[in-house]
Amino acid sequence: MRALDELRAALGDEVVRAAADIPERHLRDWVVAAGAGDEPLALALPRTTDEVSRLLACCSRLRVPVVPQGGLTGLSGGATPVRGCVLLSLQRMQGIEETDAQAGTLTVLAGTPLQRVQEAADAAGWLFPLDIGARGSCSIGGNAATNAGGNRVLRYGMMRDLVLGLEAVLPDGSVVSSLNKMQKNNAGFDLKQLFIGSEGALGVITRLVLRLAPRPASQNTALCALADYAAASRLLRLARERLGPALSAFEVMWPEFYELALAHAARQGRGAVPLSPGHGLYLLIESSGFEPDKDADQFTALIEAAVEEGLVEDAALARSLRDTQAFWELRESGSDFLPALGPRVGFDISVPTGQIGDFVQTCRERLRARWPSLRTIAFGHAGDGNVHFIVQVDDRPLPVHEIEETVYGCVQARGGSIAAEHGVGLHKRPFLHYSRSATEIALMRTIKAALDPLGIMNPGKVVAGDGQPHAPASWARRPAPAAPPSMPVARL
Ligand SMILES: Cc1cc2nc3c(=O)[nH]c(=O)nc-3n(C[C@H](O)[C@H](O)[C@H](O)COP(=O)(O)OP(=O)(O)OC[C@H]3O[C@@H](n4cnc5c(N)ncnc54)[C@H](O)[C@@H]3O)c2cc1C
Repeated sequence: MRALDELRAALGDEVVRAAADIPERHLRDWVVAAGAGDEPLALALPRTTDEVSRLLACCSRLRVPVVPQGGLTGLSGGATPVRGCVLLSLQRMQGIEETDAQAGTLTVLAGTPLQRVQEAADAAGWLFPLDIGARGSCSIGGNAATNAGGNRVLRYGMMRDLVLGLEAVLPDGSVVSSLNKMQKNNAGFDLKQLFIGSEGALGVITRLVLRLAPRPASQNTALCALADYAAASRLLRLARERLGPALSAFEVMWPEFYELALAHAARQGRGAVPLSPGHGLYLLIESSGFEPDKDADQFTALIEAAVEEGLVEDAALARSLRDTQAFWELRESGSDFLPALGPRVGFDISVPTGQIGDFVQTCRERLRARWPSLRTIAFGHAGDGNVHFIVQVDDRPLPVHEIEETVYGCVQARGGSIAAEHGVGLHKRPFLHYSRSATEIALMRTIKAALDPLGIMNPGKVVAGDGQPHAPASWARRPAPAAPPSMPVARL
């Protein structure tokens, strides 16, 4: 029997759709389209963990590769199809299964959109603090699989810090139910961490227990103009000293980004310019707390002190929810205006916070030495060391690999990460050794081989693939792509 027929016989036509019936949106993630010849075999839309389990057991038996898909907002090609794979979409597995308002936990199905999780937490009087621009489309399982970061990592940590337990299905179909609800549980290895950030290469996450945070009663936001990153670095220190854990966002925009964001806002009819262009750097600072009057005074005092110390050249404080939204819209509008800029190479890197300014400058200089008419656009979550860096040069075809070597070389020199929050996926696998030692990569391969000895889970992504024992011949020796199948963009 053909593989497709066997899958359909095991799961039914309702769950397994043939290649001809796969909607276009499943053939790519947000930025990386499937390459020529990477047509999937089928799309599976399971409704329960049991169906996921039976599907994976069947794929294991047939040696068919499986690519998990959540909301398809990933930016590294992790959810992009590989040749002959079954696309396993979690889109039918949505819902809040349990709210424990006393303990502050939510138990949710992995396909639930992040925004729905945030709303459920809010309705229970709590906050689910993970927040990213793709909140309406990305899934909570995808957030766990990529260990998503976003706007409030500075205060609440990454997704890894917000998951208490999870349920996952291994490639052979066994279900690992590790739905722990306690903050303390040292009874052996913390198995959930294996799956968080593993980008679908070790198993399929089907359920999660999430840790909620007390919902703040106040939010204070300001946009600040500074001379340079050195001033931003000193301001970050000052903000930490004065606000302590109340500091919830510290987002940086280099002038090129800020000016593009202003132009975009004007095109949208949101013409008010909070701070004039022409400064060396722009920051969005936010604090959140539980005593509104005291919090507002403390926040205003911080901005005043920063102006007095000469760190801030100009500042605009949000006086209303509308102002707050307008400031955040400027910061998040990159996803709207960056795609219109044309061919570019995007990076999502991290280096120690104090080195971000030097990193951006050195990178620019090195790139400019080779491409004098270069354009760069930088922005990011500077409070946690994460910067998004976009490079445009005139050469065609775009010299993607050479640009990546230069930028990742600057990251490596600072002991930074080539993948701060978007994961390795397809794109960054050839550069993993810039951030990880040979021993670390070997250990990752050992873990991969232990959990997925047949190499069926998301092959060719993260560390899997070339040389992996037991990998099916059709794709085991496929070389890493010299250039990505479509143009990468940075976190938007
Ligand atoms: C406008 C915009 C803004 C963004 N901002 C941020 C940001 O601030 N911070 C940030 O970290 N990211 C950001 N992202 C990237 C993206 O939203 C995140 O990586 C997100 O966590 C991906 O979730 P998803 O459900 O869309 O996953 P997908 O894109 O569907 O998949 C991503 C990876 O996870 C795997 N996967 C998905 N679901 C599962 C599952 N249930 N079990 C196992 N593996 C699975 C896939 O195989 C793939 O490798 C942004 C993206 C966009 C488009």
